[in-house]
Amino acid sequence: MRGQMMDYQLTLPTVLRRAETYFGDKEIVSRLADGGFHRTNYREVMRRSKQLAVALAGLGLERGDRVATLCWNHSQHMECYFGVPCGGFVLHTLNLRLHPTDLAYIASHGGDRAVVVDRMLVPLLDQFIGETQIEHVFVVEDGYEELLSGASADDWRDPELDEDEAAAMCYTSGTTGRPKGVVYSHRSTVLHTFGVMSGAPLNRALGEADTFLPVVPMFHANAWGYPYLAAMLGAKIVYPGPLCDPNSLLEDFVQEQVTWTAGVPTIWMGILQVLDADPARYDLSRMKGMLVGGSAPPRSMIAAFKQRHGLDVCHGWGMTETSPVASTTDLPGDLRYADEETRLDYTALQGIPLPFVEVRARDIDGNEILWDGQAMGELECRGPWVAASYYDTPEQADRWTADGWFCTGDIVSIDERGFISIQDRSKDVIKSGGEWISSVALENALMGHPAVAEAAVIAVPDEKWTERPLGVVVLRPGETATAEELREFLAGSFAKFWLPDRFEFVDEIPKTAVGKFRKTALREQFVKQSVPAS
Ligand code: AMP
Repeated sequence: MRGQMMDYQLTLPTVLRRAETYFGDKEIVSRLADGGFHRTNYREVMRRSKQLAVALAGLGLERGDRVATLCWNHSQHMECYFGVPCGGFVLHTLNLRLHPTDLAYIASHGGDRAVVVDRMLVPLLDQFIGETQIEHVFVVEDGYEELLSGASADDWRDPELDEDEAAAMCYTSGTTGRPKGVVYSHRSTVLHTFGVMSGAPLNRALGEADTFLPVVPMFHANAWGYPYLAAMLGAKIVYPGPLCDPNSLLEDFVQEQVTWTAGVPTIWMGILQVLDADPARYDLSRMKGMLVGGSAPPRSMIAAFKQRHGLDVCHGWGMTETSPVASTTDLPGDLRYADEETRLDYTALQGIPLPFVEVRARDIDGNEILWDGQAMGELECRGPWVAASYYDTPEQADRWTADGWFCTGDIVSIDERGFISIQDRSKDVIKSGGEWISSVALENALMGHPAVAEAAVIAVPDEKWTERPLGVVVLRPGETATAEELREFLAGSFAKFWLPDRFEFVDEIPKTAVGKFRKTALREQFVKQSVPAS
């Protein structure tokens, strides 16, 4: 016997209608490059999204055609997040921090036919557009306005899409090899939004009364779903535009009374330094907390926000391939009154999967690891918002197991409660004397030293042990620490063979386009130098 419920497709026009019907007056604020603010609301943004959908069809674009964006976070970008898929087209967000050569590859491999671009990014577009099939260019506040003015929202009809049709695509930043395209469907996007809303602690933290400021760029990993999440809940949203330095963000938090924000740890490390230097300067009493992911936030940073500034860090894990949010961490109820150190330990883990995401981890021999918090294996996952393949990249098919799980490339341990602890990327884990050393664990510990601003740990080849850890450290202004002091500091928490034999002190750690440590660059810089045998 089959169930007798409606065949109701999970598509983005539903979210659009909900936002304009119930939350039309709620504000959408964008910080402009000149520091000013642009104010609009859901009614306007959804009306303009419909105009965009109608206008794109008027250009002769067909269902499934790709429309790219090369933009910072602002309300026009949100219009593309809705207007492009609600017209039956596919939104392709281009990462403006990538090299033009990569952008040329990504835009042409993705088959983009049109692009919406910020005026300040036109020079970047000019460097690669010649190598793509892009026929139409619309500059925000210029040709984009003309495009919209020629179309009426009243002409928009819900294209009644199949929920499995593509809504958006996003390329992984690809520190090795060519970037790979992930194609999100309407269904996966709607379910991902539900998933983020329903996993603890976000299910308690986020609601219509909130004001979100996604620092996470809309050109990376779907902006972690925040534009859709905000629209589904009816929360006010504040877009930071190109101004993502700590002081501009803190000004936005105060002026717009932001309650919830999201971004990678490097952003929060910068903000923490400003807050620590002058705790009274910014009144963050409205703020509840922040979702932090993309790389592991140091435990010391989580503690500092909580203890010194009363702010909760909600730690989440995910990847472009998982839409991206796949797990969040929340303190188990029975540990609510545990000692502070235990509570912090849990907050620093990557947590348990959101509902409908399943995980397992397998060791080097392919056996599932024991969930004892010790054994390490590669994390695999599956679920309705996990990619089933890369776009037109058959040579990467081995990222999926024969029984349909996605191999994340993250090395993890999982504890008895199912809490995931990311130990490393498989390419970054340090293999020393037949054992694995987690570069991430060493980095987090080092960043807990009072003199250390940032620390990255990489593997360097070693004749005797195969590989040994090398610490690359940025000291805080005016602070000093020697290699021996740092080793002693770590010795309290790690086995002797984990301790880096060598430290390099640098002014800055190179970062990827999305603010993660660029370990390939560090390896190029330091690996060539000989390492003393230990
Ligand atoms: P991307 O697809 O560029 O967002 O990168 C995804 C990768 O970032 C994951 O496979 C992890 O290696 C890393 N990552 C994401 N979130 C976290 C986290 N909370 N802790 C540690 N690593 C993370």
